[in-house]
Amino acid sequence: MNIINEKVTQYIDGKYQSLSCAIDDIRLSAEARKIPIILRDTETMLMALVMSIKPERILEIGTAIGYSAACFAEVCHEAEITTIESRDIHCEEARKNLRRLGFADRVTVIEGDARDVLKDLADAEEEKYDFVFIDAAKNHYREYWDQIMKLVKPDSVIVSDNVLLDGVTVSDEYLTTRRDRTSMMRMREYLDYITDADGVYTSVLPVGDGLAVSVLKRMEQI
Ligand code: SAM
Repeated sequence: MNIINEKVTQYIDGKYQSLSCAIDDIRLSAEARKIPIILRDTETMLMALVMSIKPERILEIGTAIGYSAACFAEVCHEAEITTIESRDIHCEEARKNLRRLGFADRVTVIEGDARDVLKDLADAEEEKYDFVFIDAAKNHYREYWDQIMKLVKPDSVIVSDNVLLDGVTVSDEYLTTRRDRTSMMRMREYLDYITDADGVYTSVLPVGDGLAVSVLKRMEQI
């Protein structure tokens, strides 16, 4: 189900401006092969956010073939980007795409299950991130979140994609499979968790398949 009226989506998508022809080629290739990447309205929202925040270090969970990572690199000229992907075939294609676009020196694709990779990054106590985009297995968002908390700067922004799961998160009437029910329960728990968390301000937006934009507050703002 499209969570927004089709006509409204069509109208908004009519205002979409691609970032470059080369990046658009990756979108079209992903769409032709049904590889899930960020929707057009999600992309414009994310790009508007990073244009205003100007993050220095971006962490992405879920690379696929490198489309959203390329968008971040295109818009945030100075930013270093780390993106995690579990499927080797996607990692290979993402690295190829990012190399072709000239972003290979700023974007690192790490292959592995994000639940393990995030733990390793947290243990390594690397320099922290100021913008995080979560777009991988929807049932594991809370596990990613808990590790991400150890990896971010005090006033960072964390964006979670697909939080409305085609409407399933909102109402049981959109359920079609038993698997959906598990995802529904997990995503509801996740949204409760991040909206109740101390020191975090979250806005859930009906953009794309649902975006949760969470801003970490500094101690003096709490
Ligand atoms: N962010 C990408 C974009 O917009 O171009 C799309 C990411 S796609 C929706 C989700 C990706 O997450 C898939 O390629 C999938 O293989 C990967 N994935 C799923 N679970 C994962 C996990 N636990 N760790 C790392 N990657 C995972």
